[in-house]
Amino acid sequence: MGKVLIIGAGGVGRVVTHKCAQLPEIFTEICLASRNEEKCKIIASEIDRPILTEKVDADDVAQVVSLIQKFKPDIVINVALPYQDLPIMDACLATGVDYLDTANFEPIDEAKYEYKWQWDYHDRFENKNIMALLGSGFDPGVTNVFCAYAQKHYFDEIHTIEIIDANAGDHGYPFATNFNPEINIREITSKGKYWENGNFVETEPLSVSTKFNFPNPDVGERTIYLLYHEEIESLVKYIKGLKRIRFWMTFSEQYLNYLKVLENVGMTRIDPVNYHGKDIVPLQFLKSVLPDPSSLGVRTKGKTCIGCIVSGVKEGKSRNIYIYNICDHEEAYREVKSQAISYTTGVPAMIGAKMLLTKKWGGKGVFNMEQFDPDPFMEDLNKYGLPWTVKELPENYNFSKNGI
Ligand code: NDP
Repeated sequence: MGKVLIIGAGGVGRVVTHKCAQLPEIFTEICLASRNEEKCKIIASEIDRPILTEKVDADDVAQVVSLIQKFKPDIVINVALPYQDLPIMDACLATGVDYLDTANFEPIDEAKYEYKWQWDYHDRFENKNIMALLGSGFDPGVTNVFCAYAQKHYFDEIHTIEIIDANAGDHGYPFATNFNPEINIREITSKGKYWENGNFVETEPLSVSTKFNFPNPDVGERTIYLLYHEEIESLVKYIKGLKRIRFWMTFSEQYLNYLKVLENVGMTRIDPVNYHGKDIVPLQFLKSVLPDPSSLGVRTKGKTCIGCIVSGVKEGKSRNIYIYNICDHEEAYREVKSQAISYTTGVPAMIGAKMLLTKKWGGKGVFNMEQFDPDPFMEDLNKYGLPWTVKELPENYNFSKNGI
C-alpha cells in the first residue's frame, strides 16, 4: 500500500521498524535512516524481511530532501529527536510527502515545547496537498485518542481529564532514563503546568504530587507528580467544554534523589560550559555516560500503565471513566527487542502511519490525533499489542480524594 521512510534508529525507531515490517501488505517497502547507519543495520538484521538502511543528518533539510527523492516514500515517520521536527517537515514540504512524529518541536537551546511552531505549517501543508500527523506516540498520541473515544462514546460534555503515566519497570541500574535522557531530563526539570478554566497554571518542578492506586497489582499504589505535557495544549483546543486538564507521572524516590543531585551539581544544565578550551553542554555529556535507553530492554522487568480519567456529563448525569493500557516490559522485549516505553511509543507511530496509508484518517494540513475518528485506531491498538480497558467509575468519583 505504501513505502515508509523511518528516520531515527533509537529505541522507538527499532519498534516502529519491527512493527511496520510485520505488516507487509500495508508497508510494502521500508527504509530506516539515522545519523549512524550502523545502528540501522543492527535493527535491520533483527528482521526477516529486507529493510533498506541509509545515513542521514536530519538537521540538514537538503540531506533529507535527497533521501526522500531517492527512496520516494509515501510517508515519513520521524522518530529522531524533537529538534529534527522542523527540518524534516521542511523536507516533506519540499518533496510533497506526508509526515508523522511522536513528540513536538523543541528548540535545542531552550527547554520549552509547544505546538505553535508546527501548527504554523498548517497552511503550507494544506497548499501542498499533504498531511502532517503530530504526536502519534502514547503520550502524546494514544492519550489523545482515548480522550476522543471518551468524547464520542461516553460523554455529552467532558469537564476534567487526568492523564496518568506510570512506569513500574525496573532495569536494575541506580539511575537511567527509559527514553532519550536529554529530552527526558529537560521535560522533568521544567516547571509543571496544567490548564484550568481557560488559563495555564504554572507550578514549581515536581512540587505537586499525590498517591494513586493503579488498577494492576504489579503497578500498585505509587506517588504521581504533576508535569506539563504537550497533549494538554492540543486537547484544550479540541475537547469542547473542558474545565481542567492535568498530566501526572510516577517517579521512584531513588530516581528523584539522583536527579536532584545531578541538578544541584549543574549536570542538567543545557547552556554550554567551557571545559579544557572546548564548549560542552553538561546535559549532553551526562547523556553520553548514562545507559543507552535502547540497551535497557533486555534487563527491564515490570509493567507500564498509562491512561486517562475522564469526567463529565452524559444524559444529565455525572459520569467518570478510566481508559488505560497495561504493557509488560518483558513481553515487549520478547517481541521486538525493546522495553515497554519504546514499545508503547512505536506501536502507535506504526498505527498512525497505517491510518494515513489506508486512508482511514486523512486531510490536508497539520493535525493532532484527537481530530480524527478514534474507532479504527482503538481497534488497531487491540490488534497490534496495546490492548486497552475502559473502567466505569462511581458517579461520585473524585480523583483528588479517591485515587482509584
Ligand atoms: P533515542 O535517543 O533512543 O533515538 C533517537 C534516534 O535519532 C537515535 O538513533 C539518534 O541517532 C537519531 N538522531 C538524533 N539526531 C539525529 C539527526 N540529526 N539526524 C538523524 N538521526 C538523528 O530516542 P527514543 O527512540 O527514545 O525517542 C525517539 C523520539 O520519540 C523522541 O522524539 C522522543 O521524544 C519521542 N518519544 C515519544 C513518546 C510518546 O509517547 N509520544 C515517548 C517516548 C519517546 P544516534 O543514535 O546517533 O544518537
